[in-house]
Amino acid sequence: MRTVWVMGDQLNRSIGALAEADPSDTRVLLVESKSMLTGRRYHRQRLHLVLSAMRRFAGDLEDAGFDVDYRQSRNFAAGLDAHRTSRKPSEVVATEPNSRTVRALLARLGVTLVRSDQFLCHPHEFREWADDARGLKLENFYRWQRRRLGLLMDDNQPAGGRWNFDHDNREPPPADGGDWSNPVSSELTADDRALVDELPATAIGNGPIGIWATSRRGALARLRHFVDRVLPGFGPHEDAMLEGNWHLAHSLLSPYLNLGLLLPGEVCEAVEAAYRNRDVPINSAEGMIRQVAGWREYVWGIYWHWPELERANALDHRRKLPPFFTGDARTEMRCLQTALDGLDERAYVHHIQRLMVLSNFANLYGIRPAAVKTWMRERYIDGADWVMEPNVMGMALWADGGRMATKPYVSGGAYIRKMSDYCKGCRFEPAKRTGDTACPFSSLYWDFLARHRDQLADNHRLARQYSTLGKLKDLDQTRARAHSVVRQVRAGKL
Ligand SMILES: Cc1cc2nc3c(=O)[nH]c(=O)nc-3n(C[C@H](O)[C@H](O)[C@H](O)COP(=O)(O)OP(=O)(O)OC[C@H]3O[C@@H](n4cnc5c(N)ncnc54)[C@H](O)[C@@H]3O)c2cc1C
Ligand code: SF4
Repeated sequence: MRTVWVMGDQLNRSIGALAEADPSDTRVLLVESKSMLTGRRYHRQRLHLVLSAMRRFAGDLEDAGFDVDYRQSRNFAAGLDAHRTSRKPSEVVATEPNSRTVRALLARLGVTLVRSDQFLCHPHEFREWADDARGLKLENFYRWQRRRLGLLMDDNQPAGGRWNFDHDNREPPPADGGDWSNPVSSELTADDRALVDELPATAIGNGPIGIWATSRRGALARLRHFVDRVLPGFGPHEDAMLEGNWHLAHSLLSPYLNLGLLLPGEVCEAVEAAYRNRDVPINSAEGMIRQVAGWREYVWGIYWHWPELERANALDHRRKLPPFFTGDARTEMRCLQTALDGLDERAYVHHIQRLMVLSNFANLYGIRPAAVKTWMRERYIDGADWVMEPNVMGMALWADGGRMATKPYVSGGAYIRKMSDYCKGCRFEPAKRTGDTACPFSSLYWDFLARHRDQLADNHRLARQYSTLGKLKDLDQTRARAHSVVRQVRAGKL
């Protein structure tokens, strides 16, 4: 009898080594590694999601007739060793793991790797595309994906006559707060509650409250809910942030996609079917498919293509995490505190909060990129190295020196005021950059441009900003205010 070893982020019967497996000649191994669970801190809801999903998946496989060896071990190697000793498998195979570290470990442990089809684009296919492409632009990758996968295509032309409806999707928050239905939530079972008691003492954040499904069945229900109720409004307000509505029209599907509880192909198919059969607007359908078949697959490819992103720090940022990031203080900056509270409560904030609030601040303040990535990895419900390296180091912090984003995603308070309602309730004024009531983002923004002048002034996409910087009569006062912000933040007083 051979063994298929299934990793905790590959929980799907129809991918890789499990796709063709038959209970008559295949046993399944799952290992909960103590060193993985306690080697880093994680949010309670993240730990609960992963462990609960693994255990439920093991139960589903048993129901399908498999003999499942579910082990709690010191580490992966010890788990495999114990399995080999007790079950004596003829061979141990696994689907190619989703991280470089685990892939290398399994190779060292003598596990045979089977090609993964958990993503729509295998890293080898990405490399072939990259070798032929002139520059690794997301837009070109996305069109290539749409064409070769036949997604939202009409006779070789993009449905709706355009590849990109992003332009329609940059609206500020709706005045009525949006009418998207709340996410589905489910009751915690006795097993869920018992599992919470098992979580390591190092865990952070609030315990589970039923927002996150932990089984394939639950994930499919979330997908149905999104497609039926939320998708028609997905798009226009993708970049908006509202204090009273944490989810807006976001899908909340990333944790399931990243654990294998949902597959990207089935999400895209459901979205396309809703467009074809149910009058879902093209900008909503295209917007979602761009995210899943475009962005998500692109960062997956980049993770394998540019492993050096892991340690990148092109802007040479060296500051430590400020005390309000680590829970040792609170901040009066309303946009930031709302995001930090959201992470505590549900291990989730949406894309624009990640990019234009948390990462924007980290960049303006100058935090070491690797520390930001680790901090986010500890707190996000959907965290994984493959998705965080490109998003955090590349897109958000520009630590790659511009390989992914042509200019750093930084802004002062004006952007946050336009795209959110946070500033109304904040003691700072986004339009001011000097003085005690100046928005810290605004003061830090001009200081950021000034201190990185040598590196960024020639970037044509920043020409307007550098031209304005050159004309600022109060630059010295602005920079003095920025330095005072840094001192106060460091001391936990702002
Ligand atoms: C600094 C930073 C950190 C991030 N960290 C993570 C992370 O740890 N895990 C993670 O899955 N995503 C991460 N993202 C990408 C994106 O923010 C999340 O995928 C998204 O917010 C998840 O929420 P949602 O499912 O409601 O997404 P929606 O807004 O509904 O988008 C739909 C789906 O598209 C996919 N998607 C969209 N953009 C991206 C992207 N840039 N990269 C990968 N997938 C994308 C996701 O699977 C998502 O579920 C990060 C982005 C930034 C800027
Ligand atoms: S004024 Fe500045 S700090 Fe306050 S919420 Fe707006 S952007 Fe954030």
